[in-house]
Amino acid sequence: MKEMTSTQRFEAALKHETPDMVPISYFTGIYQMHWMKDPLVWQDTVEYGRNGEYMARATSHFHKVVGGDTLYILSDVGEIVQGWGVRMKIADVPDIHMALGKFGVNEPGDWEKLDVLDPMIDGRMPTYLDAAIALDKEYKGSVPIGVDVPSTITTATHVAPMETVMIHMLTEQDALKKGLRTICTTVTDFLNACNKAGAFYSCYLTTRASKEITTMEQYEEFGVPYDLETFKKTPSMYHICHVCGVEPMFEIISEYAKKTKNCRGISWWDRGAQPNLKVAKEKYGDVLCLMAGVDHTNTLATGTPADVEKEVENACKTAMKGSGFILAGGCDINPKSPKENMEAMVKAGRKYGKY
Ligand SMILES: [Zn+2]
Repeated sequence: MKEMTSTQRFEAALKHETPDMVPISYFTGIYQMHWMKDPLVWQDTVEYGRNGEYMARATSHFHKVVGGDTLYILSDVGEIVQGWGVRMKIADVPDIHMALGKFGVNEPGDWEKLDVLDPMIDGRMPTYLDAAIALDKEYKGSVPIGVDVPSTITTATHVAPMETVMIHMLTEQDALKKGLRTICTTVTDFLNACNKAGAFYSCYLTTRASKEITTMEQYEEFGVPYDLETFKKTPSMYHICHVCGVEPMFEIISEYAKKTKNCRGISWWDRGAQPNLKVAKEKYGDVLCLMAGVDHTNTLATGTPADVEKEVENACKTAMKGSGFILAGGCDINPKSPKENMEAMVKAGRKYGKY
């Protein structure tokens, strides 16, 4: 088969058409800075989170050295919610992203006070746009640019403490829904702005669609309507739902793929969560593109390159048949992961992922 560009390969996998090779992706974020500068200092954390061109430089450099098929724009979870008054805090070590500090919503009445944000100026959303523009200028569509953007209900748990959102789901439903409406418009506008800046897809963080966090009924009520609206209103980009939890709601996410044209896949920790890759391929592999295969918490972080290769071989054998498979870790790369392991993942992906 004629060699495809990374974008053609990635899109073929999403559409269950046969690519030349299994596309390879990873959630690198600030971890990729180690390739440009080692050791990092705390100023790097801050700079990475607020300077899109710096972020793009790190992303591009990592791509050139390590390879793979995506340029993934990932920083901390404050990009949107800082626009609603959330304060960030810096981690004790410089290769960890900034974390949420003080929240913007605490009382039920605060949900109503949220205004729709403008992705061009509010929070640190312009950082992502700057990064996408810089990468698009350099790669001109040959490698798909992805953005890490939280869903509406996930964003709600970034603007308010998680426990507060869980309580408001039970006791302050009307107030919470007013907030979700504003958040949904903001998330949708942000995604469209990313798309216009050059993003081809999002890893859409449906991190609360996991059964140990919410019930299916709760997610149907507080997650699904907003997710579907966002997919519908962002027609010119693809979405892959990312779930960090241990019991991702495949039932709901596979329905997204049936009901929409652009929500095509799921990314999850197949080596630790339920279902594993084999079961997911059997039950949902015809409907959903599965983005998984490598254990980011164990193998990539503490294994040897030979362990990584073994896992990649196993993942390709399990899931590449019939397309609909992207080789990836299950979530953010552990900052202590040896460089050799990332290189081994890409090398093995090319070796075992040929169609
Ligand atoms: Zn995750």
